[in-house]
Amino acid sequence: MKQFSDISAAIEKRKNDQLLRSRVQLHSAQGIRVVIDGQPMLSFCSNDYLGLANHPLVCEAMIASIKKVGVGAGASHLIDGHHREHEQLEQELAAFMVRERALLFSTGYMANLGVIAALMTRHDTIIQDKLNHASLIDGGILSQARSLRYRHNDLEHLEQCLASATSKKLVVTDGVFSMDGDCAPLTDIAQLCSQYGAWLMVDDAHGLGTLGDNGAGLVSQLGLDSKAVPLVIGTLGKAFGTSGAFVAGDATTIEYILQYSRPYTYTTASPPSVAAATRESLKLVINGQDRRAQLNQNIAYFRAKISSLGFELMSSSTAIQPVLVGANERALQLSKQLKEQGILVSAIRPPTVPKGTARLRFTLSADHTQADIDELYDALRLVV
Ligand code: PMP
Repeated sequence: MKQFSDISAAIEKRKNDQLLRSRVQLHSAQGIRVVIDGQPMLSFCSNDYLGLANHPLVCEAMIASIKKVGVGAGASHLIDGHHREHEQLEQELAAFMVRERALLFSTGYMANLGVIAALMTRHDTIIQDKLNHASLIDGGILSQARSLRYRHNDLEHLEQCLASATSKKLVVTDGVFSMDGDCAPLTDIAQLCSQYGAWLMVDDAHGLGTLGDNGAGLVSQLGLDSKAVPLVIGTLGKAFGTSGAFVAGDATTIEYILQYSRPYTYTTASPPSVAAATRESLKLVINGQDRRAQLNQNIAYFRAKISSLGFELMSSSTAIQPVLVGANERALQLSKQLKEQGILVSAIRPPTVPKGTARLRFTLSADHTQADIDELYDALRLVV
């Protein structure tokens, strides 16, 4: 059949362009030392920035919850899948984020679709950074709103977009950009939004847990209150080590999202045990000053060592430390050569990043030691 030959051709094209994706199999717990396809590896791949995905207290909280309430929520939040654990976690997250209310979603992807599509209509305008995460872009498409994209972190271009929109406006940006690791200039963006009467939504997926004195993310680190940033998205599958996401904001907006968001309404709630585990993670995040200090030390050490080899680092001070390579083939080759030496790092290629900017995306964790980074350095030295 014709459509099947089109599908095969598309796969063949990805192969030829060195863009074919493949999956590895994790045979161990997530962490720094993992077993991939049966082989022990030192990993620089996960978003488990604080080492909580296999933390004994978080695991115990999940096990205890499963023993009490089983494994599945069994229904959507608006039927009877909204468990007491979800409710308590929402209240604790709202307090943590210093917002009136928080609403849980089963994944960050769904939170972004669900919030944007609930709030915006085809009569409105969404203004997004060009490097925003795919789920934010897809949320815009689902909402059918007019879409404007400004050049990455370019405030002048953002202002032009704001000035050109006459309808209801929502500015959307990643806090920490997922593939570059740099931060959005949120204070200036918030100022422009206030000047032009636009709402601001920040997806702080990678800032949450890693930035701010108590881990409440970039928005908190910059001291931006609910007036400056009315909507914050946090994901729980990264520094929190569990899974899911939330939106935090004022009570009325959150109630509206609960009422009108289709990705919220028409899906099964995540298991209550995930909420129970996340409540334990939240305590570790809030008291995680030592972990964050260790992570920051690792970031500084990584940058000093890797740049000394002549690799091109990007301008990032966060746990996401990409090494720009350029050609897809070269990124794949380096990732393969490192894998042969027991080091796991992913080659990120288009369409995830712009053409010609393929990269190795190293992510650091508080669980890495200097010796781990030295091991990476020795491996990289052999492939420069
Ligand atoms: N936003 C950003 C910035 C992300 O990096 C990700 C995950 N890659 C998501 C949202 C989606 O979160 P989740 O994995 O929980 O769906």
